[in-house]
Amino acid sequence: KAVMEKIVRRRSLQMRDQQQAWQESPEGRKLQEFRRRLPAYKEKDNLLAAISQNQVVIISGETGCGKTTQIPQFILESEIESVQGAVCNIICTQPRRISAMSVSERVAYERGEKLGESVGYKVRLEGMKGRDTHLLFCTTGILLRRLLVDRNLKGVTHVIVDEIHERGMNEDFLLIVLKDLLPRRPELRLILMSATLDADLFSSYFGGAPLVHIPGFTYPVRTHFLEDVLEMTGYRLTPYNQIDDYGQEKMWKMNKQAPRKRKSQLASLVEDALRSADLKDYSIQTRESLSCWNPDCMGFNLIEYLLCHICENEKPGAVLVFMTGWDDISSLKDKLLTNAILGDSNRVLLLACHGAMASADQRLIFNEPDDGVRKIVLATNIAETSITINDVVFVIDCGKAKESSYDALNNTPCLLPSWISKVSAQQRRGRAGRVQPGECYHFYPRCVYDAFADYQLPEILRTPLQSLCLQIKSLKLGSISEFLSRALQSPELLAVQNAIEYLKIIGALDENENLTVLGRHLTMLPMEPKLGKMLILGAIFNCLDPILTVVAGLSVRDPFLTPLDKKDLAEAAKAQFSRDYSDHLALVRAYEGWRDAERDFVGYEYCWKNFLSAQSMKAIDALRREFFSLLKDTGLVDDNVGTFNAWSYDDHLLRAIICYGLYPGVCSVVNSVNARDSRIPYPWLVFNEKIKVNSVFLRDSTAVSDSVLLLFGGSILRGDTDGHLKMLGGYLEFFMKPATADMFLNLKKELDEFIQN
Ligand code: ADP
Ligand code: MG
Repeated sequence: KAVMEKIVRRRSLQMRDQQQAWQESPEGRKLQEFRRRLPAYKEKDNLLAAISQNQVVIISGETGCGKTTQIPQFILESEIESVQGAVCNIICTQPRRISAMSVSERVAYERGEKLGESVGYKVRLEGMKGRDTHLLFCTTGILLRRLLVDRNLKGVTHVIVDEIHERGMNEDFLLIVLKDLLPRRPELRLILMSATLDADLFSSYFGGAPLVHIPGFTYPVRTHFLEDVLEMTGYRLTPYNQIDDYGQEKMWKMNKQAPRKRKSQLASLVEDALRSADLKDYSIQTRESLSCWNPDCMGFNLIEYLLCHICENEKPGAVLVFMTGWDDISSLKDKLLTNAILGDSNRVLLLACHGAMASADQRLIFNEPDDGVRKIVLATNIAETSITINDVVFVIDCGKAKESSYDALNNTPCLLPSWISKVSAQQRRGRAGRVQPGECYHFYPRCVYDAFADYQLPEILRTPLQSLCLQIKSLKLGSISEFLSRALQSPELLAVQNAIEYLKIIGALDENENLTVLGRHLTMLPMEPKLGKMLILGAIFNCLDPILTVVAGLSVRDPFLTPLDKKDLAEAAKAQFSRDYSDHLALVRAYEGWRDAERDFVGYEYCWKNFLSAQSMKAIDALRREFFSLLKDTGLVDDNVGTFNAWSYDDHLLRAIICYGLYPGVCSVVNSVNARDSRIPYPWLVFNEKIKVNSVFLRDSTAVSDSVLLLFGGSILRGDTDGHLKMLGGYLEFFMKPATADMFLNLKKELDEFIQN
């Protein structure tokens, strides 16, 4: 051990000399100056003193002040500069993989090094870390996994949990685990970093840990709401019939003002703008609005208009557009590229920034464009606090957010965009005032903003807890409800009980809340258990190709479009895919048709003809790949299988697997739907529990037979198979001859055993 320490010290002293040389080089000096100007630098001594004197320190400071890139570096530098040379090991967690990667790259660059020297990163399926790495940026999930095998974080000297203001489920979870760890590791330092001031909660959670605030400075930002944007186009938006108090109905009326500009063109433009303020939530109605409904480009016209306006009339400065997700961003980008001004690369540098992006593309958003070229970045809420683009002067805010597809895996499928909070809107606005006074355009009326919640509810209080419960079990953290009662803000007991009960029903936990074989497998798949179940069975039964589509389809926006004015045509188009009463199999066929068409470069035409969303199809395609590499990563699929294993496309088998995943989401056909559905070939429907409205409900269900439900619903892999079988036996005897019933029971036993093993 002593020899090792000596080697480590010697190397870190070498690193110190290297750093000195770098800081004296012209480029190094420039970066050093840049760093000195950041607000965090002024607090450097304060911060380091607080960290050395306290086990837990909470740091707040405005986005861009230098928390993420500087503070870990301060610690690293002070350790290296100390007489003995560095023996520190700093782990800094990020909620998203894209920020872990881009931040580590930036820090290495500031230090004049390559990634993997003193600074590294690790995210799922990727990483860069060397023997001299003393500062590691990773996702929160990676640190949680490490805790699985290394409960005491041996050798780690500092843990920095970044972006705690987001109150993500993983971060809240990690804090409970770390709080338990602190007494066992008295020399370990824990640093929490937040972009907002509400850090008191964290301080009291950690027994009055000190707060350090980094004062920042931003320029004023002028705010425009939808009504102001519309004024620019010659329309006025006035409330027409607001039934505010019940939140039930809000109607809006557009009054044409004295026409100022290109009136006729603007009609459709404005209607699209109104839709971007969300037709569903606010039922904004105009007489013509229904006739030009095109769900694939909601509100895009107005964004296009505004961007052209900025490019032609406004002072220089980059534009940051906040969209909801990868699919919106790519369809907006496609649309803008066809615009004469915005698509002209001599005038506009059009870039995207979202979680599913390759790292090379990521880097582009930080580059300064050539003179006279305007940078426009289309981003998800990732650019709200985790990533800072330096030269932004204009912000366009669509007012909604959903997590990227990767996060969607962690939480729930079908994540729909929802309104952001006031704090988020302010963060977005603030992005415009970093280098000079800026402008922010919110694409929603002011009164909608007034109705936003102040803060977003912490994720742990608003999402299903099933995956979290599995994780608690796999980390052997004892009783689920006892553990969660120690959270920063505990979820309701009922929500916890529901989650545990669900996990028991699907067979992931046994009666005593212990993980079953299935449960253990599910903990390796960071997604909702029902999706994980389908993937596991799909892999076992060699029909992964179609099952990947089903699972991906459950995680994206419904790809079947129903334009209001072409409802019949759209339904007819869908009917050709769903001849056997399964929406899931309909999706599989639609996707496969698209894949073939895409191969012949006619994917878009195919979607158009069949009323499918091209964006959803692309999203499904991308998710399938991601799920597949996950399965490989966890060893559920052989590593050297090149293509998705696709032995079987047998409809009955696929129905069975869908049933296995969606159980206990079952209803009997007779009870739930009207006479028209006597065409349904089987007596049961399994459905995705999230969807409750009648018509939508049918859109997301699959009919299954008695035998499939008996064999694949319920107790497979469940601890108390016997109890379930007894119940089943009673049912079978009632409906079947004893011999048939026996046969079923035996079959079921065999199936259970087969999957167990
Ligand atoms: P915080 O974590 O407080 O939001 P950061 O440490 O991420 O702030 O960023 C500090 C500053 O460093 C930013 O204001 C930005 O100017 C600069 N910066 C960060 N990342 C990059 C990058 N990849 N390229 C260029 N500049 C960057
Ligand atoms: Mg940061």
